[in-house]
Amino acid sequence: MTSDVINIYLAGPRGFCAGVERAVLMVEEAIKKYGGPIYVRHEIVHNKYVVEDLKVKGAVFIDELEEIEDRTRPVIFSAHGVPKSVPKEAKNLNLLFFDATCPLVSKIHREVENFERLHVPIILVGHRNHPEVIGTMGQIQTPIYLIEKEEDLNNLPIKRDQKIAYVTQTTLSVDDTESIIQSIKKKFTNVIEPRKNDICYATSNRQNAIKKIASRCDLFIVIGSHNSSNSLRLVEVAKQYGAKESILIENLEIFNLSKFKNLNNVGLTASASAPEILVQNFIQIIQKKYKINLHESDFAPENVNFKIPQQLKTVI
Ligand code: SF4
Repeated sequence: MTSDVINIYLAGPRGFCAGVERAVLMVEEAIKKYGGPIYVRHEIVHNKYVVEDLKVKGAVFIDELEEIEDRTRPVIFSAHGVPKSVPKEAKNLNLLFFDATCPLVSKIHREVENFERLHVPIILVGHRNHPEVIGTMGQIQTPIYLIEKEEDLNNLPIKRDQKIAYVTQTTLSVDDTESIIQSIKKKFTNVIEPRKNDICYATSNRQNAIKKIASRCDLFIVIGSHNSSNSLRLVEVAKQYGAKESILIENLEIFNLSKFKNLNNVGLTASASAPEILVQNFIQIIQKKYKINLHESDFAPENVNFKIPQQLKTVI
């Protein structure tokens, strides 16, 4: 049975995490301090709205440092982290550079360095070609074994009783990764684990917030980008935890609102790289056509804050 009013269940926490806040602020502060253009290597975070907004303010996005036309201008590395070869190249080119790698990704970089010192094979659970995975693999000289799913464990040239270590990408599905970790521990008898879970607090909280409300939703909407790992995982989690349908929306303007016809309950969240303004804009768009009842939840209030480098602070 359908009613005239659609219940919108807003997941909380949602949207920007501390690592994304810091990376975006670093670009904004760099523009204030040095003026434009400021080069940014790769999308600073995986969100088109954020990237376009920073372009307007004076950021120029590049794939590789060699594309920098004016080498007197500063360059910032993205929140996903970079292989060690990138700051090395920046030094060789005499560039002024700032690293916006999230401190929780840097923690994993230090972990693989420590494991390399122990001379043990290292397994990385993550998605091939994701910038964070490329950055983590590029921290050390020793090759890292990347696995994306449990079956990949069968192809590793490592003996069962050999001591191994593993790390994971920060933005994976908590449940799927737990299952892969259990398989790693079943397959190998001597496993060194990261000191603290590598999946970050923001990823876990956003997934948990969805789990609490997904089962009551006819449709669950995640605002985010198609190249954002954490956005895609949120869509999967909503479906796994009972939403009849879950979708990712990148461009609010072209969303077909007739999808809401005959729906009673809709879940809504934003990925860790999508700003709250997109959620509020989307609610306004829905309200133009439908009556809604908003239900806010805040499953785990967050107060994590990462400082930007002193050199970029325009206000002391
Ligand atoms: S999702 Fe997690 S690891 Fe990635 S930037 Fe945010 S806090 Fe850092």
